[in-house]
Amino acid sequence: MGYMLEGSTGAWEIVVGLEIHAQVISKSKLFSGASATYGGAPNAHVSFVDAGFPGMLPVINQECVAQAVRTGLGLQAQINLMSRFDRKNYFYADLPNGYQISQFAHPIVGTGVVEIELQDGSIKHIGITRLHLEQDAGKSMHDQHPSKSVIDLNRAGVALMEIVSEPDIRSPEEAGAYVRKIRQILRYLGTCDGNMEEGSMRADVNVSVRKPGEAFRTRCEIKNVNSVRFVMHAVEAEAQRQISVWESGGEVVQETRLYDPARGETRSMRSKEDAHDYRYFPEPDLLPLVLDEAWMAKLKSNLPELPDEKRRRFCAQYGITFYDAGVLVADQTTADFYESVAKGRDARLAANWVSGDFFAALNRTGTSIETSPVSAAALGELLDLIGDKTINGRIAKDVFELMVETGKMPGAIVEEKGLRQVTDTGAIEAAVAAVLAANPDKVAEYKSGKDKLFGFFVGQVMKATQGKGNPALVNEIVKAQLG
Ligand code: ADP
Ligand code: MG
Repeated sequence: MGYMLEGSTGAWEIVVGLEIHAQVISKSKLFSGASATYGGAPNAHVSFVDAGFPGMLPVINQECVAQAVRTGLGLQAQINLMSRFDRKNYFYADLPNGYQISQFAHPIVGTGVVEIELQDGSIKHIGITRLHLEQDAGKSMHDQHPSKSVIDLNRAGVALMEIVSEPDIRSPEEAGAYVRKIRQILRYLGTCDGNMEEGSMRADVNVSVRKPGEAFRTRCEIKNVNSVRFVMHAVEAEAQRQISVWESGGEVVQETRLYDPARGETRSMRSKEDAHDYRYFPEPDLLPLVLDEAWMAKLKSNLPELPDEKRRRFCAQYGITFYDAGVLVADQTTADFYESVAKGRDARLAANWVSGDFFAALNRTGTSIETSPVSAAALGELLDLIGDKTINGRIAKDVFELMVETGKMPGAIVEEKGLRQVTDTGAIEAAVAAVLAANPDKVAEYKSGKDKLFGFFVGQVMKATQGKGNPALVNEIVKAQLG
């Protein structure tokens, strides 16, 4: 049995389906030439089409369509060569037309699948129901003036992809893993920047609970959740609430709710509207969207290598663990950084350095790969110095810290600080002899069977060489001189 919540009447299973709204990366809006750039002075990126002026006609932006197709391909989904736009009618002050152009009956992308990985390393497949294109609305602000609300239409008309999942998710952890995976795929594809804090990706979280083995029960939809952590908390809080409702003899009613992160609870917002409330009908100002197969094939052949694929390749090509590969493909920049360090070198050692000391240094100094004082070339050179035995692994750690501090190349640091490994047998022999001579009682103990003292002698010799002794040679010579 999977993840369960315990109520007074026994175990409950959580059922979750997510609708993710992802803002499309494109220069201009879905149906107008106005800029789709985030920010800008209020109402600076608004054309007559976006403002809903009478007589203005929408013209489809081919780049937005391409982005939706790329995303569909990345979700291993069916691409519909024929799709259609529909009007979704509702009144809202920041929706100048009184309707949103969306896709309802015939979305551009059909069923697909996403692979998520759970904490215990297991893999689960989450079904994608569909992906459709739609326009974003503007933004109402109620805190700018004592008695008036003001509206910014910069976002009105910007292309959104709505990615709908099957109700396959069964725990807060799975919900979090799913959102992270979608975000990772979108970022790899370059179809959405995935910045949830800026609102360019947000999730509507549908939650219900049931007794194991039962059919689905009524769900509630929690609107506009804007971080992975909040998605997980909202699932948990809403499931607990529904369990209490059912267990106290009540009935969960289908409604739209809001998650309040400050209180860690969901609140009713409005009763859930059904599709028929929106009076959907085919958008009369646009022809059906028909895709050219050759054009689509070209998009497909230009798709970048996606994280799952890359992860499997890293395991096969570099001989690193599935876990390490997962860390290294987290984003495209990290993956590229790792590959340029690993290429032509000990790839496992490279993986350890990148995900160990290098990541730790980024954290500590608050830098990213782009701004880090240690470039891939510099870290690669450090590995070369270890590889050709110029320095040992112990000294390499010190050299790395100096690289972080100064931004200098490791070769220069080694020369400047005289950190070359001592491989001169004579020098090491002399150091060993001195250590043994200074510790006659320890030598006697060792000879009477206290094997553990071997490490003590090695440590003393390393100390005498300021850590620069070649560890293999030191071991060998200590052993020889102890008889
Ligand atoms: P609507 O269009 O009314 O929002 P959909 O059928 O499109 O409804 O479903 C929206 C989302 O709700 C989907 O992600 C789906 O997986 C999810 N969902 C459907 N039924 C349930 C349920 N009983 N419990 C949890 N999630 C559900
Ligand atoms: Mg919906």
